Amino acid sequence: MIDLRSDTITKPCDKMLDFMLHAKVGDDVYGEDPTVFELENKIANFFGMESAMFFPSGTMANQTAVKIHTNPGDQVVAHEYSHVYNYEGGGASFNSGVSFKLLSGNKGMFNSDQLKHAINPKNFYHSPLTKLVSLENTTNKGGGHCWDIKHFEEIKKICDENELGLHMDGARVWNSIVAQDDNPKLYGDYFDTISVCLSKGLGCPVGSLLVGRKKFIDKALRVRKIFGGGMRQAGYLAAAGLYALENNLQRLSVDHQRAEEIASGFSSKDYIKSVNDIETNIIILELDDSIEKQTIIDYFSEKEILFDWNSMGFKKIRIVTHLNYSEHDHKYLLKVIQNL
Ligand SMILES: *Cc1c(COP(=O)(O)O)cnc(C)c1O
Repeated sequence: MIDLRSDTITKPCDKMLDFMLHAKVGDDVYGEDPTVFELENKIANFFGMESAMFFPSGTMANQTAVKIHTNPGDQVVAHEYSHVYNYEGGGASFNSGVSFKLLSGNKGMFNSDQLKHAINPKNFYHSPLTKLVSLENTTNKGGGHCWDIKHFEEIKKICDENELGLHMDGARVWNSIVAQDDNPKLYGDYFDTISVCLSKGLGCPVGSLLVGRKKFIDKALRVRKIFGGGMRQAGYLAAAGLYALENNLQRLSVDHQRAEEIASGFSSKDYIKSVNDIETNIIILELDDSIEKQTIIDYFSEKEILFDWNSMGFKKIRIVTHLNYSEHDHKYLLKVIQNL
C-alpha cells in the first residue's frame, strides 16, 4: 500500500529505534531526564528562543499556548483554515474558554492590514478582548505554503502595539525552513511561542515541543501538567527527535521535489479543476464538477494508493509526501496518474 494520506503515518527506521533504545533517561516530571533536557535545549537554541518544552502532541502544545496567552472570554485571531480552530476538537473553547476571529486569505495566510482590522478596540467592552494571534507555517489546509519571514515583522509590530501574544503553529515549520532556506533563529525575534511537531516530516513516532520566551514556557509547565502531558522516562521519545534533527531534516527537499512532480502529473488532467502551487510536501487537488470523488477514490484504491479523501472538504483531496514514500513508490504513482 502506498499511503499518502499524511506525513504522520511514517514509522521509525531501525537506526532511529536503536538510538531511542540507548537513550539516557530519568523522570521528566521531576525534571531529571537528560535526553528530554538535551532536546529542549537544542530546539530552543535552533529557533533563537530562550526555552522549550517537550509535549506528547502538537495539539497539546497548541492548546497550552492558547491557555497561557489568554483568559476565558478572550479572543484569538487566526486564519479560517487554521488547525487550532478546525481540527483540535474545539479544544480552544473547551480548555481556554476563548472565541476566534477568523481571517480569510489565500493559501491559509493573512496580511497585517487584515489583522489590524480584526482587533477589537480595548475600551469597547461589548466585544471580546483580543489577546492572541496565531498563524500556521506551513499552512496545512492552505496547501503547505510558507510564510515569508519579512511579513512577521509587520505582524509582530501590530501585536506589540496592541499587547497581543503571537503564536506560530509550526507543526510543519521544518518544511518551510528547508524550502525557503530560512535561518530559524530569526523566528525567535518575532514569536512569543512556536509549536513544532517531530511526528510529521521528521518521521518520529511521537512528540512535539513548545518553544518560547522563558516566562511563557515557565507558565506552560503547570498547564502541561493539568492537561495530563507530564511524562516520566520520556527521553526514549525525545531521542527520536535528536536523531531526526540530524538525519531527517535536510532530506525534506526530496519530499518537496516529489510533491511538485505529482502535482504536475495531475495538473493537465481534465478531471482536475485546480492544483495548488507546490512549495512543500502538500498537494491539494480540487476535482472538476463533472467527476465524482468516489470514481477517483476507487481508481487509486484499486492500485493500492491511499490519499486523504476526507479532511479537506467537498471535491478536494489531499496528498502528502513523506519519509516512507520511496523513489520506487514515486515512479509507480506517476505512471498510475499518467494512465488515468
Ligand atoms: C498535525 C498538526 C498539528 C498537531 O497535531 P497532532 O496530531 O496533535 O500532533 C497542529 N497544527 C497543524 C497545522 C498540524 O498539521
